[in-house]
Amino acid sequence: MTPPVKTTCAYCGVGCGVIATPDGLGGASIAGDRDHPANFGRLCSKGAALGETLDLEGRLLAPQIAGRSVGWDTAIAKVAAEFSAAIEEFGPDSVAFYVSGQLLTEDYYVANKVMKGYIGSANIDTNSRLCMASSVAGHKRAFGTDTVPGTYEDLELADQIVLVGSNLAWCHPVLHQRILAAKAERDLRIITVDPRRTATADLADHHFGIAPGGDVALFNGLLRKIAKQGAVDAGYVAEHVTGFDEAVATARISLEDRMRLTGLSEEELILFDRLWIERPKTVTVYSQGVNQASDGSDKVNAIINCHLATGRIGTPGCGPFSVTGQPNAMGGREVGGLANMLAGHLDIENADHRAAVQQFWGSPKIPEAQGLKAVDLFQACHDGKIKALWIMCTNPAVSLPRADHVADAIRKVPFVAVSDIMADTDTTRLADVLLPATGWGEKDGTVTNSERRISRQRAFLPVPGDARHDWQMICDVAQAMGFDGFGFDNPAAIFDEWARMTDLSVGFGKDVDLRALAGLDQAAFDALTPVQWPVKHDQSDTRFFSDGGYFTPDGKAKMLPIAPRGTENTPSDRAPLVLNTGRVRDHWHTLTRTGKAETLNQHISEPYLEVHPQDAHALELLPAGLATVESPYGHAVLRVQVTTRVQPGSVFAPLHWTGPFSSDGRIDTTVAPILDPVSGQPELKRSPVRVRGFDAAWYGFAALCDEPAPTSDYWAKAKAKMGWRVELAETEMPADLEAYAKALGARGEVARYFDLRSGQERLAFVEDGLITALIFGSRGPVAASRALISASLGQSYSPEILAGFEGRDAEPQGAIVCACMNVGVNKIRKAVEQGCATAEAVGEATTAGTNCGACKPEIAQLIAVSTPKIAAE
Ligand code: SF4
Repeated sequence: MTPPVKTTCAYCGVGCGVIATPDGLGGASIAGDRDHPANFGRLCSKGAALGETLDLEGRLLAPQIAGRSVGWDTAIAKVAAEFSAAIEEFGPDSVAFYVSGQLLTEDYYVANKVMKGYIGSANIDTNSRLCMASSVAGHKRAFGTDTVPGTYEDLELADQIVLVGSNLAWCHPVLHQRILAAKAERDLRIITVDPRRTATADLADHHFGIAPGGDVALFNGLLRKIAKQGAVDAGYVAEHVTGFDEAVATARISLEDRMRLTGLSEEELILFDRLWIERPKTVTVYSQGVNQASDGSDKVNAIINCHLATGRIGTPGCGPFSVTGQPNAMGGREVGGLANMLAGHLDIENADHRAAVQQFWGSPKIPEAQGLKAVDLFQACHDGKIKALWIMCTNPAVSLPRADHVADAIRKVPFVAVSDIMADTDTTRLADVLLPATGWGEKDGTVTNSERRISRQRAFLPVPGDARHDWQMICDVAQAMGFDGFGFDNPAAIFDEWARMTDLSVGFGKDVDLRALAGLDQAAFDALTPVQWPVKHDQSDTRFFSDGGYFTPDGKAKMLPIAPRGTENTPSDRAPLVLNTGRVRDHWHTLTRTGKAETLNQHISEPYLEVHPQDAHALELLPAGLATVESPYGHAVLRVQVTTRVQPGSVFAPLHWTGPFSSDGRIDTTVAPILDPVSGQPELKRSPVRVRGFDAAWYGFAALCDEPAPTSDYWAKAKAKMGWRVELAETEMPADLEAYAKALGARGEVARYFDLRSGQERLAFVEDGLITALIFGSRGPVAASRALISASLGQSYSPEILAGFEGRDAEPQGAIVCACMNVGVNKIRKAVEQGCATAEAVGEATTAGTNCGACKPEIAQLIAVSTPKIAAE
């Protein structure tokens, strides 16, 4: 029996502790780690399903050059030669790395060291630029360095939590669960500020449906009210803050302008200000809704201004709190994984900092200027300025704004290396050299979560095929390029160098302090328990700034004068709707991992577009029909959900769907490349688009044991328990459904049924008495139980399956709400009809929400109101 291994979840910035118990067959059972201070044993649905994502299907297991498998020596030599040649001919700034918040700190550290210290360019940027660069910029402007002041404990100690642009219930579910648990015990008030009525808003005491981009006006007005009502902590401001008068003066805004910019009524604004001011123990949590904006860093500083003015920072239960999206966005920030920073939060523009870092590394070079930030980096690729590019552990051909343009840009780079765990992604399709990386469960190192807590990711599975650790391949290429300083034998040695390097940070008056972790040998590194920085022997309070001590030259925080400013992203007649993008509860980034988990596909298995009923009516969009979203940059085709969760004039689409999983689900193709000029973060939440109905003559749903390779006008596929499920649509009626299904991959004898009432044609394919495929087609969206049909694969054939529902009188399961317990929307509705008035009562009646609890907001929503039709029901 293989012993359990303590590690850290692969997904969001909460950084939950996980206990993985390998089964000896390449899999593992997963449980929450009760000793981990981030989650105390809880896991959300994504974390709980990690065990379903460990198989080797679709993995990249050998290096490839031009599509042919080669040995590592050949691949490393090729990458090194191409980078060296480009540097030789065009200079260091002709090459670039684009890295990822999924990398471990040790991977990040060596990538940054190669690029900045040895190649001599700062052209290393990360997909974390898309996630929290505005928070970094806001922190630096206010605090002098990129410091997150608070801890998760503050969320439980607060009397009030204000969530701005943060769907915590879906994007950081375990933190949301911790807040709900605290709320159940005492008077903790939750407020949400979000253009969408999200699952988080459903469980809040107050929801303010702000207009997109109205945050600066909201918090500037609040600052004025704080000053006017005498809510300023004059002592704290006098002792620890500069810029108060100018910030308050600049925040002046008329009621009419504030109402216009926020879209809130006078009564709502009065209420918001009163609520925020009356509870001193307030934490303002913000994430992508704040950061992903052309004024994202201004939004961050407008929020921080209010906390500084009231002295609500650095003490238990108080503070501004940026929660990071990715598992190691914080670690990347610490070790200089952004193009505008050096390791240890040191400044690239500061000659003393540069000299100290160069001396510490003993490196030949150090760049004197910032490198290219993500969007600009790919524009430079498009302009022919980048001659060699290495993309590590990320999928920019899907995730960056104007994604088709980014794919073209990558094609234009003479040499592209991509390291990834998966063989087929939108980005690996564009590579000259593919480098197989180890994934979660196979690699070792550290990650830092949103509260600055460093945790170990530990390997518990063997390295598959010829995969190699990211840190290892980076060091191999560095050495092949003739660079010394990369003779690391293991992640422990890299971590030791990094921990020693924080001596420089502390020496220059910066915040990152890991000195107490320097000198750990392999055994001590292996035994490292979760620890927050600054690492002190007494970990009782690791908050920053309770007594000031900011990292500015005068030691004081700076309140910034922030005035609302417009965006180029304004709707027009040609693009009258505002597109917001974001995550769904059970998926992660571009589906490479969560797309493997049948449990997670049950919740939402298809890309969709939320449209307000007024807009749906005006655009003649059918619920569960299809719509095309268009902008000057690209288009996507998505399933329509008609819902009041979005405001009139706004639509929402998830960011997860990619080329391998859908025909036209890549929503970032439509997003404009508008950036925050301070942080370089793109405005992913506010793109003008046009929406029109997709002219489908036929809709289909199929389940197949074999993976389908659809060529339909519209398709979206997802893993099911015994195979795959796929949504289909055609602009012309298929002439022969049997031939159509066989082209999709169906095999066996055919049984057919035509339902006159619904106009559906239904076929079952059977081999040796077992169902190998089912296809349902009709002129309108297919009404049938996806759960039942998918679960029938591999089962004995019986004609009842062609009814498409559980039984003549049985309720269809409906879309799965609770992925852990496999409970559908209809069962929950029935429980509510029978008198269950709380999520707990529904849990007792149906088991829904009794495992990870991430679906409780949706259960609450079902209790509160009747939900709009869900496409996959
Ligand atoms: Fe993983 Fe969920 Fe915890 Fe995030 S909240 S770290 S996704 S288990």
